[in-house]
Amino acid sequence: MKQSIGLAIVVFALGAFAADNATAQGMSWQVFAKPDKTLLACLSSELDKRQLKALSSGERPKNKKLRRAAGRAYKDCTQNTATDSASNSGGRNHRISFIDAHAHASAKSASGTLTSMESMGIERTITMPPPVAPGQNIRISEKDFVRAAQKHPDKFVYFGGGASLNKMVHQAAQSGKMPDSLRKKFTETAQDILDDGAKGFGEITALHLSLRKNHPYMGTPPDHPLFLLLSDIAGKAGVPIDFHMEAVLQDMPLPAEIAGRPNPDILSANIAAFERLMAHNRNTTIIWAHAGWGNTGQRTVELCRKLLEAHPNLFMSIKIEKKGRPKIRLLDRSGMLVSEWLELFTQFPDRFILGSDEKYDRDAKRAQKNTHGIRRLLDQLPPDLAQHIAHDNPKRLFGL
Ligand SMILES: [Zn+2]
Repeated sequence: MKQSIGLAIVVFALGAFAADNATAQGMSWQVFAKPDKTLLACLSSELDKRQLKALSSGERPKNKKLRRAAGRAYKDCTQNTATDSASNSGGRNHRISFIDAHAHASAKSASGTLTSMESMGIERTITMPPPVAPGQNIRISEKDFVRAAQKHPDKFVYFGGGASLNKMVHQAAQSGKMPDSLRKKFTETAQDILDDGAKGFGEITALHLSLRKNHPYMGTPPDHPLFLLLSDIAGKAGVPIDFHMEAVLQDMPLPAEIAGRPNPDILSANIAAFERLMAHNRNTTIIWAHAGWGNTGQRTVELCRKLLEAHPNLFMSIKIEKKGRPKIRLLDRSGMLVSEWLELFTQFPDRFILGSDEKYDRDAKRAQKNTHGIRRLLDQLPPDLAQHIAHDNPKRLFGL
């Protein structure tokens, strides 16, 4: 049975007492064991002293009436009164703001995005065009992302190439040709992106699975000559590459859940080639996006650990998606942090950042689904570690 780390922390804090890990409405009973001042003040207005005392053990109450009252109070306190708070989960880091190192917001959605960021406690957003496939019928202009950062330089940081460079790589791979003129054009495009003020390249992908309509499949070995060229350009400029790649250890059949889409029947192994990309230029930081998520089931803690140990220029951004059917989960179904992920973050406190992957251009105000998961994660991290992942690491990486 999977042990959740929230449980482990509380057990540790209270001196090894075995709390029940039952949840109601996605809430852990442990939130009542040590509520912070704000939450306690609010809970006290909804529950009487006797009830609070009964709940303070952090165990699931046997009394059904109390369970209901507690659930209602918790919901009210965390959803309706969080006006000045960035979070709705009431945990120990619930007021910490953070840098979102991976999202998609252009100038078109900037004002809605800013509102959303404020309500979710996001201090800054690294915004980048999503990866675009050759022939994809979609209008994405990298300049719209540049403009967001130019208009709000204190709020947005621009990464470019998802719509231009990424398409060029996959086009070249499909054609099987690599003329010098293509290398030249690729280099010039990358330089233009840097001249526009980009602090990195993204979202670049080597393996992107199609999960819904108008969501493209893209697959090119991560050590393709243009990826290596991009690594050299990024290394020289001192900027990172934000890299989306589903992990495939060995050639494998496409997971049944995503069959019947434009994905191929067999997915080709890509980890060895990914390691060649990282080893190609050690001056280049590769941010492997979406740790804690994945549709092949192979981006495990074990694999992440192995690669972080072997490649000092590897960083990872954490994505938590409540919806969808990712095969890898960082929070379990009741929202508790899975202990093996905490062990990994603790082992590499300087190598993780947060990347919501919110798509603000669809509907900026409602694009908070993944951010709720991030807040839930922050609430369960030891404060020092939360500070590293939310602030210190992205600041250092992006020179903020
Ligand atoms: Zn992505």
